[in-house]
Amino acid sequence: MKLERCLLGVAAVLAVCSSSAQAQDLGPHFRKIKEGIYVQSAREVNSTSSIILTEEGVVIIDTGQTPIDAREVMEAVRKLTRLPVRLLINTEVHPDHTTGNFVFSPPALVINADGAVEAMRKAFDPERGNTLAKESAEMREAVQGYRLVTPHIEYHDKTTVHVGERTFELLHFKNVHSEADTAVWLPNERVLFAASVAIPTSINNLRPFVSIPDMLAAIKTMKSLNPEIVVPGHGSFGTTKIFDDSQRYYELLLERVGVMVREGKSLDQIKRELRMPEYASWSYQERMPTNIEAAYRAVMGN
Ligand SMILES: [Zn+2]
Repeated sequence: MKLERCLLGVAAVLAVCSSSAQAQDLGPHFRKIKEGIYVQSAREVNSTSSIILTEEGVVIIDTGQTPIDAREVMEAVRKLTRLPVRLLINTEVHPDHTTGNFVFSPPALVINADGAVEAMRKAFDPERGNTLAKESAEMREAVQGYRLVTPHIEYHDKTTVHVGERTFELLHFKNVHSEADTAVWLPNERVLFAASVAIPTSINNLRPFVSIPDMLAAIKTMKSLNPEIVVPGHGSFGTTKIFDDSQRYYELLLERVGVMVREGKSLDQIKRELRMPEYASWSYQERMPTNIEAAYRAVMGN
Protein backbone atom coordinates (compact mmCIF):
# COMPACT_ATOMS: atom_id res chain seq x y z
CA MET A 1 0.00 0.00 0.00
CA LYS A 2 1.36 3.40 -0.98
CA LEU A 3 1.69 5.78 1.94
CA GLU A 4 1.09 8.79 -0.29
CA ARG A 5 -2.41 7.54 -0.95
CA CYS A 6 -3.01 7.11 2.75
CA LEU A 7 -2.06 10.72 3.35
CA LEU A 8 -5.08 11.81 1.31
CA GLY A 9 -7.42 10.00 3.67
CA VAL A 10 -9.26 11.32 6.69
CA ALA A 11 -7.63 10.98 10.08
CA ALA A 12 -9.17 7.63 10.94
CA VAL A 13 -8.21 6.09 7.62
CA LEU A 14 -4.77 7.59 7.94
CA ALA A 15 -4.21 5.81 11.24
CA VAL A 16 -5.12 2.47 9.67
CA CYS A 17 -3.01 3.07 6.56
CA SER A 18 -0.03 4.28 8.54
CA SER A 19 0.10 1.31 10.85
CA SER A 20 0.00 -1.05 7.86
CA ALA A 21 3.31 0.24 6.48
CA GLN A 22 5.53 -2.73 5.80
CA ALA A 23 9.14 -2.95 6.94
CA GLN A 24 10.30 -2.76 3.32
CA ASP A 25 8.69 0.68 3.07
CA LEU A 26 11.03 1.74 5.83
CA GLY A 27 14.19 0.82 3.91
CA PRO A 28 16.63 -2.09 3.83
CA HIS A 29 17.88 -1.62 7.40
CA PHE A 30 14.52 -2.33 9.05
CA ARG A 31 12.87 -5.58 10.03
CA LYS A 32 9.37 -5.96 11.40
CA ILE A 33 9.49 -8.44 14.26
CA LYS A 34 5.90 -8.25 15.53
CA GLU A 35 2.87 -6.10 14.86
CA GLY A 36 3.98 -2.53 15.54
CA ILE A 37 7.54 -3.51 16.49
CA TYR A 38 10.46 -2.75 14.15
CA VAL A 39 14.21 -3.13 14.51
CA GLN A 40 16.89 -1.22 12.67
CA SER A 41 20.39 -2.62 12.30
CA ALA A 42 22.38 -0.96 9.56
CA ARG A 43 25.25 -3.47 9.64
CA GLU A 44 25.68 -6.76 11.47
CA VAL A 45 28.05 -5.44 14.16
CA ASN A 46 26.17 -2.13 14.55
CA SER A 47 23.97 -1.30 17.48
CA THR A 48 20.25 -1.95 17.07
CA SER A 49 17.53 0.65 17.41
CA SER A 50 13.91 -0.36 17.86
CA ILE A 51 10.56 1.30 17.24
CA ILE A 52 7.52 0.22 19.22
CA LEU A 53 4.18 1.73 18.27
CA THR A 54 1.44 2.15 20.87
CA GLU A 55 -1.98 3.80 20.87
CA GLU A 56 -0.48 6.66 22.88
CA GLY A 57 2.68 7.21 20.89
CA VAL A 58 6.03 5.71 20.09
CA VAL A 59 8.65 4.12 22.31
CA ILE A 60 12.21 3.98 20.97
CA ILE A 61 14.89 1.66 22.33
CA ASP A 62 18.40 3.05 21.66
CA THR A 63 19.19 5.50 18.89
CA GLY A 64 21.39 3.66 16.39
CA GLN A 65 25.11 3.47 15.76
CA THR A 66 25.42 7.08 14.59
CA PRO A 67 23.23 10.18 14.17
CA ILE A 68 22.67 9.07 10.54
CA ASP A 69 20.98 5.94 11.89
CA ALA A 70 19.02 7.98 14.44
CA ARG A 71 17.68 10.21 11.62
CA GLU A 72 16.77 7.09 9.63
CA VAL A 73 14.83 5.72 12.62
CA MET A 74 13.03 9.05 13.00
CA GLU A 75 12.10 9.00 9.29
CA ALA A 76 10.72 5.49 9.74
CA VAL A 77 8.66 6.64 12.73
CA ARG A 78 7.17 9.43 10.60
CA LYS A 79 6.17 6.89 7.94
CA LEU A 80 4.53 4.66 10.55
CA THR A 81 2.53 7.10 12.65
CA ARG A 82 1.67 10.72 13.32
CA LEU A 83 1.87 10.13 17.06
CA PRO A 84 4.83 11.59 18.98
CA VAL A 85 7.79 9.68 20.38
CA ARG A 86 6.87 9.54 24.06
CA LEU A 87 9.65 7.52 25.60
CA LEU A 88 13.23 6.65 24.71
CA ILE A 89 14.88 3.80 26.59
CA ASN A 90 18.70 3.66 26.59
CA THR A 91 19.95 0.10 27.17
CA GLU A 92 23.43 1.38 28.04
CA VAL A 93 25.39 4.63 28.27
CA HIS A 94 27.80 4.31 25.32
CA PRO A 95 27.61 6.74 22.36
CA ASP A 96 26.65 4.02 19.83
CA HIS A 97 23.33 3.69 21.70
CA THR A 98 22.79 7.23 22.99
CA THR A 99 24.34 9.87 20.71
CA GLY A 100 21.07 10.08 18.78
CA ASN A 101 19.04 10.90 21.92
CA PHE A 102 18.90 14.52 20.69
CA VAL A 103 16.95 13.44 17.58
CA PHE A 104 14.03 12.19 19.72
CA SER A 105 14.18 14.38 22.82
CA PRO A 106 12.32 16.64 23.14
CA PRO A 107 9.54 15.56 23.13
CA ALA A 108 10.62 12.08 24.30
CA LEU A 109 11.58 11.49 27.92
CA VAL A 110 14.71 9.36 28.22
CA ILE A 111 15.06 6.59 30.80
CA ASN A 112 17.89 4.31 31.90
CA ALA A 113 19.06 2.80 35.18
CA ASP A 114 20.90 4.42 38.11
CA GLY A 115 24.25 5.90 37.21
CA ALA A 116 23.52 6.56 33.53
CA VAL A 117 23.49 10.36 33.80
CA GLU A 118 26.73 10.56 35.76
CA ALA A 119 28.51 8.13 33.43
CA MET A 120 27.36 9.94 30.28
CA ARG A 121 28.39 13.34 31.66
CA LYS A 122 31.79 12.02 32.71
CA ALA A 123 32.52 10.41 29.34
CA PHE A 124 31.17 13.32 27.31
CA ASP A 125 33.60 14.76 24.79
CA PRO A 126 32.59 18.36 23.97
CA GLU A 127 34.25 17.92 20.55
CA ARG A 128 32.12 14.90 19.67
CA GLY A 129 29.75 16.81 17.40
CA ASN A 130 32.62 18.42 15.48
CA THR A 131 34.51 15.13 15.19
CA LEU A 132 31.45 13.41 13.78
CA ALA A 133 30.72 16.29 11.39
CA LYS A 134 34.17 15.82 9.79
CA GLU A 135 33.40 12.20 8.87
CA SER A 136 31.24 12.93 5.82
CA ALA A 137 28.79 15.41 4.34
CA GLU A 138 25.94 13.07 5.32
CA MET A 139 27.16 12.96 8.92
CA ARG A 140 27.57 16.75 9.00
CA GLU A 141 23.90 17.02 8.05
CA ALA A 142 22.76 14.36 10.53
CA VAL A 143 24.66 15.86 13.46
CA GLN A 144 22.94 19.27 13.11
CA GLY A 145 21.54 20.25 16.51
CA TYR A 146 23.59 17.64 18.34
CA ARG A 147 23.90 18.00 22.09
CA LEU A 148 24.29 15.62 24.99
CA VAL A 149 20.88 14.39 26.15
CA THR A 150 21.09 12.30 29.30
CA PRO A 151 18.19 10.34 30.84
CA HIS A 152 15.44 12.33 32.56
CA ILE A 153 14.48 9.30 34.60
CA GLU A 154 16.74 6.86 36.39
CA TYR A 155 15.28 3.82 38.10
CA HIS A 156 16.73 1.38 40.61
CA ASP A 157 16.82 -2.39 40.03
CA LYS A 158 13.60 -2.68 38.00
CA THR A 159 10.59 -0.69 36.94
CA THR A 160 7.46 -1.08 34.84
CA VAL A 161 6.32 1.52 32.32
CA HIS A 162 2.89 1.48 30.66
CA VAL A 163 2.55 3.34 27.37
CA GLY A 164 -0.80 2.95 25.64
CA GLU A 165 -1.75 -0.73 25.51
CA ARG A 166 1.82 -1.96 26.01
CA THR A 167 3.80 -2.87 29.13
CA PHE A 168 7.56 -2.44 29.34
CA GLU A 169 9.46 -4.10 32.16
CA LEU A 170 12.90 -2.56 32.60
CA LEU A 171 15.58 -4.66 34.27
CA HIS A 172 18.80 -3.12 35.54
CA PHE A 173 21.79 -5.44 35.20
CA LYS A 174 24.96 -4.37 37.00
CA ASN A 175 28.59 -4.92 35.91
CA VAL A 176 27.59 -6.56 32.63
CA HIS A 177 28.69 -4.00 30.00
CA SER A 178 28.48 -0.25 30.71
CA GLU A 179 27.87 1.81 33.86
CA ALA A 180 24.09 1.43 33.44
CA ASP A 181 22.54 -1.41 31.44
CA THR A 182 18.83 -1.95 30.90
CA ALA A 183 17.09 -4.93 29.35
CA VAL A 184 13.51 -4.29 28.20
CA TRP A 185 10.96 -7.07 28.44
CA LEU A 186 7.57 -6.91 26.74
CA PRO A 187 5.73 -9.71 28.58
CA ASN A 188 2.62 -9.65 26.41
CA GLU A 189 4.51 -9.72 23.11
CA ARG A 190 7.26 -11.98 24.55
CA VAL A 191 9.96 -9.81 23.00
CA LEU A 192 13.14 -9.10 24.96
CA PHE A 193 15.53 -6.25 24.16
CA ALA A 194 18.60 -7.73 25.77
CA ALA A 195 21.09 -4.79 25.90
CA SER A 196 24.74 -5.64 25.20
CA VAL A 197 25.27 -8.54 27.61
CA ALA A 198 25.19 -11.23 24.91
CA ILE A 199 26.05 -10.19 21.39
CA PRO A 200 25.76 -12.72 18.57
CA THR A 201 28.99 -13.93 16.92
CA SER A 202 31.05 -11.14 18.43
CA ILE A 203 33.69 -10.87 21.16
CA ASN A 204 32.52 -8.16 23.54
CA ASN A 205 34.70 -5.45 25.05
CA LEU A 206 34.78 -6.31 28.76
CA ARG A 207 35.75 -3.21 30.72
CA PRO A 208 37.62 -3.42 34.06
CA PHE A 209 34.39 -3.27 36.13
CA VAL A 210 32.62 -5.99 34.13
CA SER A 211 32.10 -9.30 35.91
CA ILE A 212 31.64 -12.53 33.92
CA PRO A 213 29.69 -14.16 36.82
CA ASP A 214 27.32 -11.15 36.76
CA MET A 215 27.00 -11.48 32.96
CA LEU A 216 26.16 -15.18 33.32
CA ALA A 217 23.60 -14.36 36.02
CA ALA A 218 22.01 -11.72 33.76
CA ILE A 219 21.90 -14.20 30.87
CA LYS A 220 20.21 -16.76 33.16
CA THR A 221 17.62 -14.21 34.31
CA MET A 222 16.84 -13.16 30.73
CA LYS A 223 16.57 -16.77 29.55
CA SER A 224 14.18 -17.53 32.40
CA LEU A 225 11.74 -14.99 30.95
CA ASN A 226 11.38 -17.44 28.08
CA PRO A 227 11.26 -14.80 25.31
CA GLU A 228 10.08 -15.68 21.83
CA ILE A 229 12.31 -13.05 20.21
CA VAL A 230 15.59 -11.67 21.54
CA VAL A 231 16.86 -8.35 20.19
CA PRO A 232 20.49 -7.88 21.24
CA GLY A 233 22.11 -4.46 21.59
CA HIS A 234 24.17 -5.24 18.49
CA GLY A 235 23.60 -7.49 15.49
CA SER A 236 20.66 -9.53 14.27
CA PHE A 237 17.68 -10.41 16.41
CA GLY A 238 17.01 -14.07 17.10
CA THR A 239 16.05 -16.42 19.88
CA THR A 240 17.51 -17.47 23.25
CA LYS A 241 20.22 -19.25 21.21
CA ILE A 242 22.02 -15.89 21.45
CA PHE A 243 22.18 -16.46 25.24
CA ASP A 244 23.17 -20.13 24.90
CA ASP A 245 26.07 -19.24 22.59
CA SER A 246 27.36 -16.50 24.90
CA GLN A 247 26.96 -18.64 27.99
CA ARG A 248 28.95 -21.49 26.42
CA TYR A 249 31.69 -19.09 25.31
CA TYR A 250 32.11 -17.54 28.78
CA GLU A 251 31.94 -20.88 30.58
CA LEU A 252 34.65 -22.30 28.30
CA LEU A 253 36.77 -19.17 28.78
CA LEU A 254 36.47 -19.43 32.58
CA GLU A 255 37.33 -23.11 32.44
CA ARG A 256 40.45 -22.59 30.32
CA VAL A 257 41.71 -19.63 32.34
CA GLY A 258 41.01 -21.62 35.53
CA VAL A 259 43.16 -24.53 34.33
CA MET A 260 46.04 -22.20 33.46
CA VAL A 261 45.83 -20.38 36.81
CA ARG A 262 46.01 -23.74 38.60
CA GLU A 263 49.09 -24.55 36.49
CA GLY A 264 50.66 -21.47 38.07
CA LYS A 265 50.59 -19.29 34.97
CA SER A 266 50.58 -15.49 35.23
CA LEU A 267 47.97 -13.27 33.60
CA ASP A 268 50.51 -12.23 30.95
CA GLN A 269 51.34 -15.86 30.16
CA ILE A 270 47.66 -16.74 29.92
CA LYS A 271 47.06 -13.81 27.56
CA ARG A 272 49.89 -15.02 25.33
CA GLU A 273 48.97 -18.70 25.36
CA LEU A 274 45.18 -19.00 25.64
CA ARG A 275 43.33 -19.86 22.46
CA MET A 276 39.59 -20.04 21.75
CA PRO A 277 39.65 -21.61 18.26
CA GLU A 278 35.92 -22.46 18.44
CA TYR A 279 35.25 -18.72 18.29
CA ALA A 280 37.88 -17.70 15.71
CA SER A 281 35.12 -16.57 13.34
CA TRP A 282 33.60 -14.12 15.82
CA SER A 283 34.17 -10.40 15.19
CA TYR A 284 36.49 -8.23 17.30
CA GLN A 285 39.19 -10.81 18.13
CA GLU A 286 41.33 -7.88 19.32
CA ARG A 287 39.03 -7.64 22.37
CA MET A 288 40.15 -11.07 23.58
CA PRO A 289 42.71 -9.68 26.11
CA THR A 290 39.88 -7.83 27.93
CA ASN A 291 37.94 -11.12 28.05
CA ILE A 292 40.92 -12.99 29.48
CA GLU A 293 41.43 -10.27 32.10
CA ALA A 294 37.76 -10.52 33.13
CA ALA A 295 37.96 -14.32 33.32
CA TYR A 296 41.16 -14.02 35.38
CA ARG A 297 39.42 -11.65 37.83
CA ALA A 298 36.57 -14.14 38.16
CA VAL A 299 38.87 -17.12 38.69
CA MET A 300 40.93 -15.20 41.29
CA GLY A 301 37.69 -14.19 43.04
CA ASN A 302 37.94 -10.45 42.54
ZN1 LIG B 1 28.53 -0.44 24.62
